[in-house]
Amino acid sequence: MSECLFCRIVRREIPAQIVQEDERALVFRDVHPQAPTHVLVIPKKHLGSLLEASDEDAALLGHLQRAASRFAAQAGLSSFRLVSNNGKGAGQTVDHLHYHLLAGRPMAWPPG
Ligand code: AMP
Repeated sequence: MSECLFCRIVRREIPAQIVQEDERALVFRDVHPQAPTHVLVIPKKHLGSLLEASDEDAALLGHLQRAASRFAAQAGLSSFRLVSNNGKGAGQTVDHLHYHLLAGRPMAWPPG
């Protein structure tokens, strides 16, 4: 059984504030929010990062973006940022693919 933190959230072994779920994706609130709205969109399937995704994951990757847009619509968000850190150099700290959905404050560009 995987010791991956987010796999354990998927299996309900670790509590999380889950806001949306379907057969392939989970959306839950980030424990250290960086914006008034900050949720993580993850695949239930373990992928360490986008670097581990293959052609057979293409539909799943599209599904995650649709999960993000569904959350944004249901939360009434008129704008949001969707970002994924891939690799330590990009700031990835949890080795399970995830997209941060941030909203509710002005967003600077470029990100740090
Ligand atoms: P990253 O640094 O891009 O890999 O993002 C990992 C994110 O996971 C960070 O924003 C953390 O605050 C968040 N995080 C870590 N542990 C938990 C947890 N148990 N529940 C919810 N979010 C978490």
